Amino acid sequence: MARRQDLTVAMSERVHITTAIFYCNGAPHVGSAYEALAADTFARALRRKLGHDQVSFLSGTDEHGDKIRRAALAQGLRPKAYTDQMSELFRQAFAGLNVTAAARKAPAVDFWVRTTDPVHERFVQEMLNRTYQRGDIYFRDYEGLYCVDCERFYTDKELLPGNLCPSHNKPVELISEGNYFLRIEKYREQVLAHLRSNPDFIRPERFRSEALNMLAEPLTDLCISRPKARLDWGIELPFDANYVTYVWYDAFWAYVSEPATRLGLEAFAHDVWPHTEHFIGKDILKTHAVYWPPILLAAGLPLFRHLNVHGWLNFGGARMSKSSGNVADPVSYERAFGHDVLRYFVMREMVYGLDGDFSEERLIERYNADLANDLGNLVSRVLSMAARYFNGEVRAVPQGVADGVYQGVNWKTIEQLPSPVINRVTEDLDFKRALDEVWTALDTANKYIVTTSPFTLARDPARLNEVAQILANLLEALRVIADTLEPFMPVTTGKIFDLLNASGAQARAPYGHGLKAGHTVNPPIALFPRIEKTARA
Ligand SMILES: [Zn+2]
Repeated sequence: MARRQDLTVAMSERVHITTAIFYCNGAPHVGSAYEALAADTFARALRRKLGHDQVSFLSGTDEHGDKIRRAALAQGLRPKAYTDQMSELFRQAFAGLNVTAAARKAPAVDFWVRTTDPVHERFVQEMLNRTYQRGDIYFRDYEGLYCVDCERFYTDKELLPGNLCPSHNKPVELISEGNYFLRIEKYREQVLAHLRSNPDFIRPERFRSEALNMLAEPLTDLCISRPKARLDWGIELPFDANYVTYVWYDAFWAYVSEPATRLGLEAFAHDVWPHTEHFIGKDILKTHAVYWPPILLAAGLPLFRHLNVHGWLNFGGARMSKSSGNVADPVSYERAFGHDVLRYFVMREMVYGLDGDFSEERLIERYNADLANDLGNLVSRVLSMAARYFNGEVRAVPQGVADGVYQGVNWKTIEQLPSPVINRVTEDLDFKRALDEVWTALDTANKYIVTTSPFTLARDPARLNEVAQILANLLEALRVIADTLEPFMPVTTGKIFDLLNASGAQARAPYGHGLKAGHTVNPPIALFPRIEKTARA
């Protein structure tokens, strides 16, 4: 019951959803697409509950730092020219997957942020100034072991034997220089207390435990500057023109900069920011659990609501990453298999928070079994019968359980849609079980056809009334199933609504309030033609 109360409180709030800000030194892969798709599915589900404009959704690209500068140089480009290309590559890939933040159709609530945008750069400087004036940034000489690829200093105990970087397994360099530091240790107890009193601040639970461990011992203050002599591709410190800010400090603020500028910082910080849902991969848990909260507190801002941490989408058992070369281009799957297929696959296969495996064979299996057979065939059979027997006309008022739909199937699995499915997403991040419930509804509809056998009844003209009733029920079932699928399969939902001639409030109505007697539907098309082999050459 507590959940329902949370929901009531949430109704008056605007919720802010973010993906990580993608470091664009390589093309997007299916792993980065997974995060964008999960966040988009969550955003779409939440928009159904709270209203479209009550949910802002932000994604974008992290474009500063030495790795970007070097990737640009390798292509003979200036960094900005390089990131212009790369950011657009990410945006188009995600927009092609119907990720609303990247498609930016509603600019007041959909944000695609680039850390090289002037609005963002000004905002980061404002936050640096605020923090500096509050006394939480200080200057000191520092000598430390530095990994050029990580762009960060390491302590002795973090390094592998032989002073090797734990991420790159190559020697770090001893560097001595003056730098600016952010007091993060000062806020450690406050962050710990927040984690203890908000058990779902970081979810799932295993990542909260990891974060509690990370925060159990004193932290080394965070170096937030880089001397321009060493690296000039960054945002200049407003209080020292000899330095740019550390790329992570810069990138975090991408979650805030544009929406806060649009709404005004105070209004955003008060009304929106405390209801922020971050979606990140487990590889950046530490930066988000240990660095980001003190960065916010030191700037005088409140903490976000949830850090939703997902596992890795592995490819042939190994983590998919830019450097390992086992990347798969998400757009190629969209082209080869059609809209929504990749999104459906990763949302149905992955348990949020756990690692999962991606393989084309498994994708094709799911496509044929779930999409071609269960969903595609149902749409096609029902619309064919409606066309053949009644010229597409709905000839009865759809029935529900109260009226006796029945016949060995649990019609409630259809009638109660979409609420339980939407709640599984917005409250539990349980995308997989949400889709399991949609497929239970599809099974119900398919079994109902088997048990009632309308094609047999239709041979007897005296029983056409019964057939009309069965088809009215099935068409209405298709409509609520399509409506429920929208966060997961937005294009497919649109296609089924078109086939059903349903739009607006009629398409979105609860079961029994959509297709009325006299309504006409269209003849079927094949939504998901079966795939016999690997579709990609
Ligand atoms: Zn490294």
